Amino acid sequence: MSKKLLLKDAHIEGIRYFETYRKQGGYTAAEKALKMTPEEVLEEVKASGLRGRGGAGFPTGMKWSFLAKPEGVPRHLVVNADESEPGTFKDRYLMEFLPHLLIEGMLISSYCLGSNVSYIYIRGEYSWIPDILEEAIEEAKAAGFLGKNILGTGFDCEIYVQRGGGAYICGEETALLESLEGKRGNPRLKPPFPAVKGLWERPTVVNNVESIAAIVPIIDITGAEYAKIGVGRSTGTKLISACGNINKPGVYEIDMTITVEEFIYSDEYCGGIKDGKRLKACIPGGSSVPIVPANLLLKTVNGEPRYMNYESLADGGFATGTMMGSGGFIVLDEDQCVVEHTMTLARFYNHESCGQCTPCREGTGWMYKILKKIENGEGKIEDIDLLWDIQRKIEGNTICPLGDAAAWPVAAAIRHFRDEFEWHVKNPELCKTQNYGLAHY
Ligand code: SF4
Repeated sequence: MSKKLLLKDAHIEGIRYFETYRKQGGYTAAEKALKMTPEEVLEEVKASGLRGRGGAGFPTGMKWSFLAKPEGVPRHLVVNADESEPGTFKDRYLMEFLPHLLIEGMLISSYCLGSNVSYIYIRGEYSWIPDILEEAIEEAKAAGFLGKNILGTGFDCEIYVQRGGGAYICGEETALLESLEGKRGNPRLKPPFPAVKGLWERPTVVNNVESIAAIVPIIDITGAEYAKIGVGRSTGTKLISACGNINKPGVYEIDMTITVEEFIYSDEYCGGIKDGKRLKACIPGGSSVPIVPANLLLKTVNGEPRYMNYESLADGGFATGTMMGSGGFIVLDEDQCVVEHTMTLARFYNHESCGQCTPCREGTGWMYKILKKIENGEGKIEDIDLLWDIQRKIEGNTICPLGDAAAWPVAAAIRHFRDEFEWHVKNPELCKTQNYGLAHY
């Protein structure tokens, strides 16, 4: 059984409220951190090996150490709660059931970074959660854990919740900052990076909800102990939101030493494929990461079992591997059509493109149109090559990673399931009523 650090108290009734959270040992990590220097807190975060849980997996301690500290200029912590990646809903779970874990993590992080005013930017569709967060903020403030001169340390910290308008692109950190400043959420050209010029041109750290919540157990048990959990550079625990054709969709905390097979088939996690069907493919890290067919999902290119961690999932690179990403684990059974699935994603990225750069604005629309043709039995074999060519021209040629996120699913689908695309072209009538299934295994 995986060790639980974030969700260990999630089952306790009333854990959403300060009194219950405090009774379970809540805010003791904050008390401990406020007795340390900010530099000591940073050393603990670095020692933990924590990697950003939003998708990129960049080391959090290193990110924090890049924060510029010009004299007299305020700094900010911004929590990215714009969780819009299809298949990903673990931050929603944390905020809804354990809001004080996030607030405590923000207090410790704000103290370490020197942020006296910190923000939670939350996606517009999570319409009921801002009230939960604001109630938790008020409770923490009433108990002396936010506001002026926290616990007599002289440190002041306010936290504000800002609702987004429902645009996927605002999950990109610079688009988020633009939106937080009240402007249209268009990504900025980098450099300068937010650590130097972020919110209102002030040094800013933007971190995912789960990353900031993980700061609490890191301070609690120490960074060195946190680093002992997991394997290699995949330290600590990771939340996975599992969905698709499985028996037990939900949010699970894993310690990154379990295999993909165990995660899918064990009763502790997904409980196997629904209706006893066979596994066809999976997208393990949210819709932007490459889809992987079952044979490569259960073992690496070297024939080793594939583990639920950053290194093992990426084994083989983009050619055969995938990514841990945001931990949005989407399972496809033998009845799912990969072409239809890819078309649905292409439509999503086309809709969410902010339109600033041509390869993304035009290319996502072209990919959607071609995929729709193929899915409807109106495609030609050359369309598959054209699709491949378009995704190649998008990848790496855009301002922000949405372009790559739109290109990778298409590239992986063609790479691993080209025969399924060709079957659609060669069987225009059949593909309207039947699926290709597992014929290529
Ligand atoms: Fe906008 Fe797409 Fe360019 Fe990102 S890649 S800036 S979403 S047009």
